[in-house]
Amino acid sequence: MLEILIRENGGEPKWVAASEVLGIIMKKKPKTSSPSPLSLKGFDVWWKKYDKKVTKKQAMQYWAKHIKQEMVTGILWHTKRYVEKVEKRYRLDPVRYLRNEKFNDEIIEQDKRIDVTEYKHDTTGMPMGKCKKCGKRDTYLNQWELYKGSDCCGEKVLPFK
Ligand SMILES: [Zn+2]
Repeated sequence: MLEILIRENGGEPKWVAASEVLGIIMKKKPKTSSPSPLSLKGFDVWWKKYDKKVTKKQAMQYWAKHIKQEMVTGILWHTKRYVEKVEKRYRLDPVRYLRNEKFNDEIIEQDKRIDVTEYKHDTTGMPMGKCKKCGKRDTYLNQWELYKGSDCCGEKVLPFK
């Protein structure tokens, strides 16, 4: 059996079998970049959800290289909202969505059902509304405050006559 004298991480030198040394070297070798089945876990799910069938090859390569398993849940969560919000033709190409880390961007929710002209305004022009839950009437700073929900319950703010 071939033995080699090694000194690992500054420790005591020791004789080990050559086959073991090879094992150590193999372990320390940087990971290859070729996609492994494990690193592509989640890709197909995401691909179907994203539903813009371009740049698949590049997206897959990027995914295999850069998307870690613990990121997948967050990406799927974001993608679900992103595709609801953004029409297909305005969606980034999948590979750009990944590369730009679009999935880290906040999605600005806006309740389109609110039309500020339906609301009474006070003399200074601030919109007034009532809480859908408890009926409390309040004056809001502007339409964005209305969108955010009632101060009391965080519920939708309805117009009143
Ligand atoms: Zn309320």
